[in-house]
Amino acid sequence: MKRSAAILLASLAAACAAPQNTGTPAPADATKFLADVNESMKKLQVEASQAGWVQQNFITDDTEAIEARVNQRVIDAIAKDAKDAVKYDKVAVSPTERRQLELLRNSLVMVTPSNPKEGEELTTIMARLESTYGKGKWCIEPEKPDTCMNIDQITKVMADSRDEKKLRQVWEGWHTISPPMRKDYARFVELSNKGAKELGFPNTGAMWRSKYDMAPDEFTKELDRLWDQVRPLYLKLHAYVRMRLHDKYGDVVPATGPIPAHLLGNLWAQDWSNIYPLVAPPHADAGFSLTDILKKRKMPALDMVRIGERFYTSLGFAPLPKTFFERSLFVRPRDREVVCHASAWDIDYEDDIRIKMCIEPNAEDFTTIHHELGHNFYQRAYKTQPVLFRDSANDGFHEAIGDTIALSVTPEYLVKIGLLDKAPDTSRDIGLLMNKALEKIAFLPFGLLIDQWRWKVFSGEISPAEYNKAWWDLKLKYQGVAPPSARGEEFFDAGAKYHVPDNTPYTRYFLADILQFQFHRALAKTAGCTLPLNRCSIYESKAAGERLNTMLSMGASRPWPEALDALTGAKQMDATAILDYFEPLSKWLDQQLAGKTVGW
Ligand SMILES: [Zn+2]
Repeated sequence: MKRSAAILLASLAAACAAPQNTGTPAPADATKFLADVNESMKKLQVEASQAGWVQQNFITDDTEAIEARVNQRVIDAIAKDAKDAVKYDKVAVSPTERRQLELLRNSLVMVTPSNPKEGEELTTIMARLESTYGKGKWCIEPEKPDTCMNIDQITKVMADSRDEKKLRQVWEGWHTISPPMRKDYARFVELSNKGAKELGFPNTGAMWRSKYDMAPDEFTKELDRLWDQVRPLYLKLHAYVRMRLHDKYGDVVPATGPIPAHLLGNLWAQDWSNIYPLVAPPHADAGFSLTDILKKRKMPALDMVRIGERFYTSLGFAPLPKTFFERSLFVRPRDREVVCHASAWDIDYEDDIRIKMCIEPNAEDFTTIHHELGHNFYQRAYKTQPVLFRDSANDGFHEAIGDTIALSVTPEYLVKIGLLDKAPDTSRDIGLLMNKALEKIAFLPFGLLIDQWRWKVFSGEISPAEYNKAWWDLKLKYQGVAPPSARGEEFFDAGAKYHVPDNTPYTRYFLADILQFQFHRALAKTAGCTLPLNRCSIYESKAAGERLNTMLSMGASRPWPEALDALTGAKQMDATAILDYFEPLSKWLDQQLAGKTVGW
């Protein structure tokens, strides 16, 4: 995860559709305006990053208050700048300046209406939605507080339990937190749409889709095209998992229909890796455990970070600055509360990059370090761009970079860096690939459907009277997943997923999932890898590093298809790299599924 410095929520103090009638601004005015925005935004963002860093490293009432105050200032500033940018819509400015003006206008995730009463109402609703989710708990016996479970405890049961009744109980339990959000959510949709219209967008969903350098409808078609490319592979994975779950749970899992949502090891059925033991291919044990190796060596956190850094320097990137090691957090402190969720930071928009993680010697954290450093090297690569361009090419790119590098953490890589004596032969790959498919392939339809639902909710195509029906229609259509029991409109199951009450766009995660394999395939080719794609690591390839750096250093200065082209030689996103990567698994699945029904 990256902590983005850009604050994406804004309130508009005044209506802003038309330029003021005080004479048309000149191109020089736009240049001056952008110079001022770039300077003031950098200053404010640095303050916000510092306050955020301190808040997450020393959680107290005071640091929270300080951070909230700075964030509010950033929000107000961006809102004002976005509004002012509209003044230059008709002014003849350079293409670079035009792009900066557009990015400024498109940088908001939510716009509060100019009417102060409505603005305040929306802000209050947002805070209430977030806190309803954050405080969400389900109690087996409401009178007994010690029977209450929070999201962490429920998540653990979903991951570990194989007791169908228990799983159904906690799944239904967690989904009791969201019905109280339903009314608020409908009002939030009305008010945020009003704000979006004031900025010239038809609705909030169209505003979100306007960030992708193409017409909103064209972007929707692009997503459909990508999904069609990978859907056949998803269908196979789905059918195989269903078959194994049917063996385990009997008729609760139909042999030919959708899979019940509570049996996939995750509250939202978005990541199925927790049920790997139930679906593991026979004789496909990888033959080594990176976690065991790291534990046996008692590998200190700093050494793990140094290994991650060495991956990037092996590609030709400069080593991390001294301050990275002085200021990052690698180990959970014993004396205070901190946010341990892994994140990468760019404090001063220059060289003060850091990660914040509570590293344990295990395979997951080892991979996560490689991922987080991807954000940092991206941030440093685009630091010479104007401030408004110091971001990834589109919001899918930032997450995709770290994951691309993580795909290079292969057995061969572990051998090269001395953690493993010998790479297992490729006959063992089915296990590794199955594990990865349960994470990356299972996620794809979920990554897509959240915003399919929200875009239709924002446009009015889905009315509040059918929020839940539409949600489950989409879950069925894309994921082939059904609720464990009837879910009428007395429920609000979309609200039980964090990003809905928190109002974070979700399509970026779908894009990142697609892009990372496309990046990996292109870089592996540049590195001259002739192994199966899942065995390729770009470690030590200066040629791959150069190509990667060309794209990273562009930041957001050019439309994303050009950035994509710089790395892959193609301007179109392409999900066939996923098919290449998982080809051995795909063939194996074909054998397992001979004569069986695929689909639901
Ligand atoms: Zn990340």
